[in-house]
Amino acid sequence: METPKETRERPTPGGPQDFIRETVARDLASGRHRTVVTRFPPEPNGYLHIGHAKAICLNFGVAKEFRGRCHLRFDDTNPSKEEQEYVDSIQEDIRWLGWDWGGHLYFASDYFGQLYAWAEDLVRAGKAYVCDLSADEVRAYRGTLTEPGRPSPYRGRGADENLDLLRRMKAGEFPDGSRTLRARIDMAHPNLNMRDPVLYRILRATHHRTGDEWCIYPMYDYAHGQSDAIEGITHSICTLEFEAHRPLYEWFIENLPVPHKPHQYEFARLNLTYTVMSKRKLLDLVQNGYVSGWDDPRMPTLAGYRRRGYTPEAIRAFATKVGVSKANSTVDVAYLEECLRDDLNKRAPRRMAVLRPLKVVLENYPEGKVEEMDLVNNPEDASAGTRKAPFSKVLYIERDDFMEDPPKKFFRLSPGREVRLRGAYFITCTGVEKDAAGEVAALRCTVDLHTRGGSSPDGRSPKATLHWVSSGHAVEAEVRLYDRLFKAENPDKAPEGQDYKVNLNPDSLVALAGCKLEPSLAVCKAGDTVQFERLGYFCCDRDSAPGRPVFNRTVTLKDTWAKIQRRGK
Ligand code: ATP
Ligand code: MG
Repeated sequence: METPKETRERPTPGGPQDFIRETVARDLASGRHRTVVTRFPPEPNGYLHIGHAKAICLNFGVAKEFRGRCHLRFDDTNPSKEEQEYVDSIQEDIRWLGWDWGGHLYFASDYFGQLYAWAEDLVRAGKAYVCDLSADEVRAYRGTLTEPGRPSPYRGRGADENLDLLRRMKAGEFPDGSRTLRARIDMAHPNLNMRDPVLYRILRATHHRTGDEWCIYPMYDYAHGQSDAIEGITHSICTLEFEAHRPLYEWFIENLPVPHKPHQYEFARLNLTYTVMSKRKLLDLVQNGYVSGWDDPRMPTLAGYRRRGYTPEAIRAFATKVGVSKANSTVDVAYLEECLRDDLNKRAPRRMAVLRPLKVVLENYPEGKVEEMDLVNNPEDASAGTRKAPFSKVLYIERDDFMEDPPKKFFRLSPGREVRLRGAYFITCTGVEKDAAGEVAALRCTVDLHTRGGSSPDGRSPKATLHWVSSGHAVEAEVRLYDRLFKAENPDKAPEGQDYKVNLNPDSLVALAGCKLEPSLAVCKAGDTVQFERLGYFCCDRDSAPGRPVFNRTVTLKDTWAKIQRRGK
């Protein structure tokens, strides 16, 4: 785990900030390209996650900074796993993040016709052949890093026979998986990707756009670079795993009559502590009910972060700060949370909410009297103004803010102790009421009526200031305290025979009913974010009903995990 080094090493603002931007700046200066064209190429087989956000901010960010353009291209070459739901969510999430592809929305499936025509070109040139080996056999023939592969027995087929077989594959004459089209490159190549890679496989699956028109589908490596070429992409930016695929990417570009020659550049993917980012695992969590859906507020998906109360500004700031490098590393999730706090601190209005209410009766405050107290909406932003909160004889404070028999360092309320109620009065605890089980049921207090607004004419200043809500005016709410979904720093590391799910945090959701909110929160809509004073940032959830809001905890005010970890050491 590291704090991102790139942040510290970034050159002065205004110029290139990483090797990708340096390359683009150089290519524009030298006239190699007149405009930069990038693309973000998601496969519509899941929702976007925070790792994708890094790639999105890089591709769209570079295009914007250099006045080029960025295409959104769905890499929809695998119909068995792809769905329209994902196509829709991906567009929604990219827009939410603040990016716009203008008219440049494309689908690899739009190019199926052209890709197929080029495949015939390769066959005619003797650069591709139809192979009858099964997938397992292809793998067995491929060899290893230390052993060369063996040629397929079908490698020597003539161009005419290959063309005939390829057309019959396309026409649906052969069963799924029975044949493939392979490039004829070099079975002894040190790079395994160059050992006659598969270009087409037979697969009968209804495609979300082309329906049943095709029963052969191009492989990623074949489709991707040629899609880049068709669209005139100048800088095809992908993650480091594709570095070893670059020679193949270039082989296709060199051996096909493409209209344009794109180049591939690789950067390190984002990894985050306490987070799984593999789409397979995220799908597993959703399909097997470990979370409530792709937008469960604990998911590292953009839909999950949005519902949790993350802002696009915070995620973009995070993407910028972690930077772009060639070295794989894992970023501390606390860093993302800090970016969020920085943003919410500036914009989130402050409100009072009591999550675990304890009733307080002010003995010397007149029955039936209600005063409207002025409270500051945001100490960080004077323009946010003030609001009124009603104050009365019966209030709620946080149960945690009272201790009958406090230890030395507890400065909040206890018998005989005076505290300040935020923006209201000083109160002193004079008595404790208990229920039959001996639990504290209510407190009796006196209020010093000379301290209205929260200061005393004699200069007295209590050590603690508590938040409060008037009992008769409170809005009842459900509050969902979300925490990290995994309790292990590296959730992928699991003991023998178990998987990453053993690392799920059993306390990642604690739902509290009967929380008391100040009345200004009666009208709130899904997505509204506030700071509950002293507790954290919270966001109104879409499960809210009129008069019955539901709030999600977005993030605590401080990083409590860091403290726990330090204590553990
Ligand atoms: P898979 O291909 O296994 O389904 P993927 O995460 O690569 O998963 P894609 O939809 O292909 O999913 O990703 C779209 C783009 O996002 C790719 O260019 C990929 O390199 C980039 N990307 C994916 N994960 C990350 C990550 N963790 N950090 C940065 N970029 C990522
Ligand atoms: Mg991928």
